[in-house]
Amino acid sequence: MVDTSPLIGVLALQGGFALHVKILRDLGAEVREVRTPADLEGLDGLVMPGGESTTMTLGIEREGLAGPLGDLVRAGTPVLGTCAGLIMLDREHLGLLDVRAQRNAFGRQLHSFETDLEIDGDAVRAVFIRAPWIAEHGDGVEVLAEVDGHPVAVRQGAVMAVSFHPELAGETRLHERFLAAIRQGATGADAARTASPGRPGTA
Ligand code: GLN
Repeated sequence: MVDTSPLIGVLALQGGFALHVKILRDLGAEVREVRTPADLEGLDGLVMPGGESTTMTLGIEREGLAGPLGDLVRAGTPVLGTCAGLIMLDREHLGLLDVRAQRNAFGRQLHSFETDLEIDGDAVRAVFIRAPWIAEHGDGVEVLAEVDGHPVAVRQGAVMAVSFHPELAGETRLHERFLAAIRQGATGADAARTASPGRPGTA
């Protein structure tokens, strides 16, 4: 149980981290931009933003972040990965989510699009930008939403990953759910599913 403002790290090596930081702060979280292993200490949750997974991979290698990120996730810390963040979590990158992401699966920038998805009973406005989809996943992975028959939102334990950008188009519901689950000390699917938006007065 996290008493007041949870401390959320946002991986800030590259990509669209700034808007995640803003949304989480607006929702009452304390936020730390993560660039080095020391920045991971004491986090209650972690967001891995979209961007460019090749560049992010280089940054993670340069900073020696792969091991400490793995330790954090294996300890059950809730993680929200989005777009390139999902790619970073997959079998072929950090190996923290039992999926294989297919990069640029919907085509290149030309094929960016927006759509409404239903995730855990919430309508979520999803912006796809050179997005991956999930080409394969293990039995322990719960598919939360699909587009054209391809999984684009999944959960495994305390890790949730989506192919799209939930931070664009004024969408905040996934962040609200993420924080609510952390505030309730939740690490599993059941708790996340029953989580309600953040309590008032915790900002
Ligand atoms: N196409 C990017 C990649 O493969 C991901 C795009 C995104 O994060 N919006 O890394």
